[in-house]
Amino acid sequence: MKFKDYTYRRPDMAAFKTQFEKLLADFVQAPDVETQNRLIADINALRNDVETMIKLVQIRYSIDTTDAFYEAENDYVDENLPIYEDLVVDYYKALVASPYRQQLAERWGKQLFDYAACKLKTSNPTVLPLLQRENKLGSEYRKLMSSAKIEYNGKTYNLQQMGPFMQVADRAARRAAADSYMTFFEQNEAQLDRIYDDMVKVRHEIAVALGFANFVELGYARLGRTDYDAAMVAGYRRQVLSAVVPLATALKARQRQRIAVDKLKYYDEAFSFVDGNATPKGSAEQLVDKAQAMYRELSAETGEFFDFMVDGGLLDLEAKQGKSGGGYCEFINDYKAPFIFANFNGTADDVETLTHEAGHAFQVYSSRNYALPEYVWPTLEACEIHSMSMEFITWPWMENFFKEDIAKFKFSHLANALTFIPYGVTVDEFQHFVYENPTASPAERKAAWREIERKYLPHRDYDGNDLLERGGYWYRQGHIFYDPFYYVDYTLAQVCALQFWHKMSGDGRAAAWDDYLKLCQAGGSRSFLGLVELANLQNPFIDGTIASVMQPVSDWLSAVKDDF
Ligand SMILES: [Zn+2]
Repeated sequence: MKFKDYTYRRPDMAAFKTQFEKLLADFVQAPDVETQNRLIADINALRNDVETMIKLVQIRYSIDTTDAFYEAENDYVDENLPIYEDLVVDYYKALVASPYRQQLAERWGKQLFDYAACKLKTSNPTVLPLLQRENKLGSEYRKLMSSAKIEYNGKTYNLQQMGPFMQVADRAARRAAADSYMTFFEQNEAQLDRIYDDMVKVRHEIAVALGFANFVELGYARLGRTDYDAAMVAGYRRQVLSAVVPLATALKARQRQRIAVDKLKYYDEAFSFVDGNATPKGSAEQLVDKAQAMYRELSAETGEFFDFMVDGGLLDLEAKQGKSGGGYCEFINDYKAPFIFANFNGTADDVETLTHEAGHAFQVYSSRNYALPEYVWPTLEACEIHSMSMEFITWPWMENFFKEDIAKFKFSHLANALTFIPYGVTVDEFQHFVYENPTASPAERKAAWREIERKYLPHRDYDGNDLLERGGYWYRQGHIFYDPFYYVDYTLAQVCALQFWHKMSGDGRAAAWDDYLKLCQAGGSRSFLGLVELANLQNPFIDGTIASVMQPVSDWLSAVKDDF
């Protein structure tokens, strides 16, 4: 069956609510554990039906935001999602309070209960108006960012469209593009400060109302983090400071020499090679054919998976008019089908996006048969291990995509993986400052950002740009606004992905592939550190891990001559 033939009918939320509440009442009054087991299955069947329809709407609307039918359906989903989520919270309450909890945990696994207990800490009816206010502020930020109209060379562009101009070979043009890009933030500084200040205050208020000292612990609970805390993350950042920052600084020095500038300024950082970045060779259709051949060669499991994606029409890859931005992977519950969405534009990002999203999709395809929706996906930092590792696992086939640019591709892929980590922890440390000091002023926040940036990104040179010098770089980082504390996740996953990169490059390839497969099949049935252990990966929070993971990366990069 093809994606286009998946039938959509608007979920009747009133009927759903009635049925759900009936099952939940039966669950609470169940005379024995067998009855509760059966009711868990019934409740999940009902959830899967509604979630299937929600996903179909969201995917089809993102493919064509000018489609009036799905636009209306999308509004309907937005309005009803909070009702759905509330009901799931009620179910979690009943689960955690069950007199048969012990036996239920034996049957369904401990992770379901840890996860449910964690989610329960994040909401109660008294904070609903505050949560709505928080969501509204998110929409305000989204609207402001998408309203950007940047005048450049006589034309008007949005923020994304400015990207290519900031990477051109002509340094003066690069600088002019970066300056124009920054004017949007300069003109909207007060507005951005006000939105973020309101967000921080409302989040603090929610946290206090829920019994937390500040938003930090609540932020972690929202992300379903059951096995690490802020103190462990602080220790991890210290490891990054000592083991990654010097390597990243050295890579930036190499870049400066490679592109032949006297000092590497902020507008030079995205420009890596004098004669341009690696580009994939071939049309989007040809890239998919190459990917299909690659996944058949990689393993029986990935071959079956990718054939399923292609046969089911479950990939929408090319940038088109009316399509929303970015890339993602979704899972359509009742069809047990992953879906990959991207916006190919002819850059190296196309191949990286395809292998990245295919990593997510392969994981969810591998864990699609779990009876619990909670176990289909793990928490976000674990999710990114599958995707980022897949980018490296497919290295042996990358020559088919990049041809003569292969050396450039591999070098920049690995170098960027490393230099990303200090930036990622900058974003993280900043957010800890913000939520631990909820009364700090916008100017104090910016000063804190700049200080943290100097620590982790010592090479960064803003060349006198006033707003950037005062600490305004982070305005562009949507995660800071929408998803507090979700960002360090990418760095934790990268530390794991780099372990797969190393293991897969040597004699251990077969064993490492088995570990990867095990990790994907485990889905969300374990916590982050439980999955790390299952996949025979070193725990990023243990002192010394980061240094040992970075050693082979640094050796590999040092062995490459900068003669691109
Ligand atoms: Zn991802």
